[in-house]
Amino acid sequence: MQEKKRLGVLTSGGDSPGMNAAVRAVVRAALAKGAEVYAIYEGYQGMVEGGECPLPAPSSRDNEPFMGNVSLPQQACIRPISWHEVSGILQKGGTIIGTARSLAFKTREGRRRAARNLIREGIDRLVAIGGDGTLTGADLFRREWPELLKELVENGEIRPEEAAAYPQLAIVGLTASIDNDMYGSDMTIGTDTALHRITEAVDAISSTAASHQRTFVVEVMGRNCGYLALMGAIATGADWVMIPEQPPQDNGSWEDRMCSVLKAGRDSGRRDTIVIVAEGSRDSDGNPISSDRIKQVLEERLGEDARVTILGHVQRGGSPSAFDRNLSTLLGCAAVDEILKDEPHPEPLLIGMHGNRIVRSPLMHCVQQTHVVAEAIANGEYERAMDLRGNSFKDACHTFQTLMQAAPHTPSSDRQSRRIAVLNCGAAAPGMNTAVRAAVRLGIDRGHTMLGIDRGFRGLIDGSIKELGWLSVRGWATTGGSELGTSRKLPEGRDFYQIARQLEAHDIHGLLMIGGWAGYEAIYQLYSQRDTFPAFNIPMLCVPASIDNNLPGAELSIGTDTALNNIIEAVDKIKQSAVASNRCFVVKVMGRYCGYLAVMSGLATGAERVYIHEEQITLTDLQKDITDLIEGFKHGKRVGLIVCNENAHPVYNTDFICSLFAEEGREVFQVRQAILGHLQQGGDPTPFDRIQATRLAEKGLDFLIDEAQKPNPAGAFMGVEGGQVKFIDLSLMPRMVDKTFRRPKDQWWFDIWPMSKMLAQPPKKIG
Ligand code: ATP
Repeated sequence: MQEKKRLGVLTSGGDSPGMNAAVRAVVRAALAKGAEVYAIYEGYQGMVEGGECPLPAPSSRDNEPFMGNVSLPQQACIRPISWHEVSGILQKGGTIIGTARSLAFKTREGRRRAARNLIREGIDRLVAIGGDGTLTGADLFRREWPELLKELVENGEIRPEEAAAYPQLAIVGLTASIDNDMYGSDMTIGTDTALHRITEAVDAISSTAASHQRTFVVEVMGRNCGYLALMGAIATGADWVMIPEQPPQDNGSWEDRMCSVLKAGRDSGRRDTIVIVAEGSRDSDGNPISSDRIKQVLEERLGEDARVTILGHVQRGGSPSAFDRNLSTLLGCAAVDEILKDEPHPEPLLIGMHGNRIVRSPLMHCVQQTHVVAEAIANGEYERAMDLRGNSFKDACHTFQTLMQAAPHTPSSDRQSRRIAVLNCGAAAPGMNTAVRAAVRLGIDRGHTMLGIDRGFRGLIDGSIKELGWLSVRGWATTGGSELGTSRKLPEGRDFYQIARQLEAHDIHGLLMIGGWAGYEAIYQLYSQRDTFPAFNIPMLCVPASIDNNLPGAELSIGTDTALNNIIEAVDKIKQSAVASNRCFVVKVMGRYCGYLAVMSGLATGAERVYIHEEQITLTDLQKDITDLIEGFKHGKRVGLIVCNENAHPVYNTDFICSLFAEEGREVFQVRQAILGHLQQGGDPTPFDRIQATRLAEKGLDFLIDEAQKPNPAGAFMGVEGGQVKFIDLSLMPRMVDKTFRRPKDQWWFDIWPMSKMLAQPPKKIG
């Protein structure tokens, strides 16, 4: 038996964007930990074929169960993979090690051959990346392993000593599927990117639909899971959605219900109509509802000019989003930690993500729970299917059903109607409009009056406050910037008196501030002066919206994900521009004193080094980094990437770093500086930001309305921590923040930062 631990990594089933980042993380983390890594090409089919006998074309092998027209490489399908072979793949869709659907592996004979091939290469640890089929296959293989080895010994295909040396096969699974249908992880690898593709397509379709007053029926993937359809509908402000888990079941047929809702929208003056339908949608009797059927209904009953767009494989394609790159990287590293343990877990584990934290769950339990949902849908147990999907999914459904309406419901009279004012504050963050739209519509729908304040606290001081109607926020779900207007104005001196007067004059019962640091400070000041100004004794809530991601109590602020994606798109292009020219780019990113954008964009783009203010750079660090870079370029590196937070160091700033690196490295590489500037803040919000904005706005609004019924209403800030929406009393804010550097004292992502270093720099012996 070899001295080093040796593991195999494979991708199998349908490809999904982010698989490459997972493979890169597995390969590099394992090499960094001193293990040997073998890539198994073309999924299980490659494992069955192994190292010796590249297959002839499948057509000539009629007796061999083989699926798909996969042409296997004329090299061994199981072979060592090096640090450099996984360079430059983070931004690529698909999987560089290939994937396949293998019927051969579904047979015992196929799995016996696969076991033989692994034994011959000395592999007894496997990281399998794929969907539930892939993970089911992996589990079966592991359970059969001792038997398969016994059979191989009996057949004389392996020696008894070989079988004895590898008594068990350790398995760790990563779930990669664009459908997000797997139990055990909040998100599967590829889902976020698929949502990007859907929102890009629907945003584009909406403008042509509006021009011609057309209806588009957009079909998205999801045989048993409506996640893509539902979240795509929320993110694009669609007008109707169909998902497998919740067939339209209101009084009358789904056709009646859909037509009445869409007609009301048209009657209210809406020019475009977008219907999103998951491919597995069905009616309450279980009959499939196809997009063509929906088109026909809309044409016949409403006389609509309807078109069908089936997004199909577009959803799987393209460069992975920042979220998918980082999710895959974190899961890949965690998989290596698990699989390289001296005593790997006796059960195969699935590594997933829950509330931004890595979770490990028994793999087969996750697979079984995944099948339970599919069975519930197949049996028409829709309520059960919805329960199994969980509360967030159910809440999202409910929220969408309110937001899609042409007009609000008639409010029930059991609650007092309140006047809630909404304002943006600080720099515009993509997703602010989405949050305002959701708060306004949901507030009106619950029977309250919603007011919009122009330009943040400036507008509150000078009384620029107006009532917002249902239609006034039409189209705001998808646009960047701040339609309300925003400013960084902090109230001072007489401003407080003015604000108190305006709150009274407009009879405002609650204040919803959607914004960044300046907004938090301003609201805190109002809250602290409640004794002086009784008008401030109303509920106030800060909703985190800032690309800097520097707000307390919130792991991710609205706008951060968009900024991150803006950065990685720019950096991908910058890197590509210099692919053959031995160039090192020093990219300066925003974030003020918070290193989140720098760390996460560095991780997503494969930066050699990330400099952040939280970790003070020293000259010794810089010297070491230059030496590493020079070494890297001498060993074949062609592009280098350094990401700097804009305030990483007062002296060792980007200009200094550029000059230093240019001077020291001039024999081997050139240096270019790239300041990304305001492009980071611009653009339409990503699906994640739109969904998060909608969720926070709804929860925040409900909080304010509840508090408005109380004699001593709270002042709070909110956010999602560990997957849960939390409200934190404003009195705790000073204790939670570093006021000088305007960031939370405790930053959850800080542990991720060393990982980008580990994955960027080969261990010395590998060079
Ligand atoms: P996707 O979500 O894209 O469908 P998946 O991993 O579920 O991904 P499948 O085609 O179901 O895709 O499975 C991938 C491969 O895993 C199969 O081609 C087969 O080789 C193997 N596999 C699936 N189910 C089993 C099983 N029950 N026993 C053995 N192998 C299996």
